[in-house]
Amino acid sequence: MDDCLFCKIIAGEIPSTKVYEDEDVFAFRDINPQAPAPILLVPKKHICCTRAINSENSFYVAKCFEAIAKIAKAEGLDNGYRVINNCGEDGGQTVMHLHFHLLGGVKLGEKMV
Ligand code: 5GP
Ligand code: ZN
Repeated sequence: MDDCLFCKIIAGEIPSTKVYEDEDVFAFRDINPQAPAPILLVPKKHICCTRAINSENSFYVAKCFEAIAKIAKAEGLDNGYRVINNCGEDGGQTVMHLHFHLLGGVKLGEKMV
């Protein structure tokens, strides 16, 4: 996708602080931290959002969660963490490239909104 912010970050065209990378997943620090360990994980393949997940691309979701387990360990989030996905306008998604927020490092509140 030519005009996608996260595709540009994956390609290195826009700088980011990389936390993890493999063949299928890229993870970097969020520029707008809402918790001490704010990390964004994105599949390298452009998928707009969870609405577009299907049997052909769900592999990338699994790879993101495998990466989450590795990153959480490396970041010392041994006491737990939260994974968030925002989907579409009502879900508060602002960047239309599927991504997961990994938050941790503090005891997070129980509220989901
Ligand atoms: P969303 O609201 O779509 O779920 O999350 C998008 C996230 O991307 C936000 O938390 C925002 O802070 C982050 N973000 C937006 N632009 C950039 C950027 O240029 N660099 C980085 N590292 N994060 C960004
Ligand atoms: Zn993209």
